[in-house]
Amino acid sequence: RAKAAGGNRFALADAEADARAITRHGLTTALPTALDRGEFFIEYQPLVHLGDGSVHGAEALVRWCHPQHGVLGPDRFIPLAEHTGLIVPLGRWVLEESVRQANFWQERHTDGGPLRINVNLSPTQLHHPSLVAETVDVLERSGLEPGALCLEVTESALIGADDDLLKPLRQLAEMGVDIALDDFGTGYSNLANLRRLPVSVLKLDRSFTQGMQHHPADPVDLKIVEGIVSLAHSLDLAVTVEGVETGAQAEQLRQIGCDTAQGWYYARPGAPDRIHSLLLADAV
Ligand code: C2E
Ligand code: MG
Ligand code: MG
Ligand code: MG
Repeated sequence: RAKAAGGNRFALADAEADARAITRHGLTTALPTALDRGEFFIEYQPLVHLGDGSVHGAEALVRWCHPQHGVLGPDRFIPLAEHTGLIVPLGRWVLEESVRQANFWQERHTDGGPLRINVNLSPTQLHHPSLVAETVDVLERSGLEPGALCLEVTESALIGADDDLLKPLRQLAEMGVDIALDDFGTGYSNLANLRRLPVSVLKLDRSFTQGMQHHPADPVDLKIVEGIVSLAHSLDLAVTVEGVETGAQAEQLRQIGCDTAQGWYYARPGAPDRIHSLLLADAV
């Protein structure tokens, strides 16, 4: 009996694995036409100043409205797009579209100071020879100043990065584009390495904020975040925290000295109109 049950369990696990593989295969083959058919769209999540709750900017997060599977999050298709190379045209579209959107916001809210737009770059995009030229081109055509753009790269994408890989990022940084180190704390978190990277923003991963969910927060977790923040500040890096889900977390992070925050407590990723109305209201 036990054996039979075990056998069934394995059969079930196999079936699930098969189903996942079939879906993965289907998604991979559907990817190229999805871009032509306009099935991708971007949601924007506000980045908020911890000091006064004003809107600092927004992160562009891509979604796929699949005709059969409904709306898919980036974790379902970005790795596939990376694997097939479609990430290059897809990433180009995300950059173009979100920069255009940011410029639209900018033109209507000039008094509120520059509004930032954060765009994620995957490793393949980082290695692509025309990254700098394309970014310059997108900025010029939109009219958005380079200082309003922040490109997010993960630490793992820069692991062992030599000068050839860092050169395009340096060029962008010299133009005034901000480079953020995304998901900091999930990889090697090599603090000494930060010095040689052309980054100006550190994005603390959600795992840090998750550790602060309990009330009162674990004092050791707090000390770790405090240490990272003060080190980042001493290297002239601004600190953004992701995954802020409660007011208590926001308050603690503000006291620790984090600069900006992002998370469900403020707003979930949403349609561009949402950012527009937040800017009109002047706070989240
Ligand atoms: P990320 O850049 O670290 O983006 C933050 C993720 O955390 C987003 O997930 C966001 O929806 C989620 N999030 C924000 N606030 C909270 C919160 O309070 N609680 C929780 N539990 N989650 C929160 P999403 O949209 O599923 O994106 C996942 C990842 O996909 C992103 O992580 C980014 O690495 C990648 N990605 C998204 N858009 C693009 C893109 O256009 N290009 C590339 N290359 N990667 C992208
Ligand atoms: Mg990001
Ligand atoms: Mg992140
Ligand atoms: Mg993350």
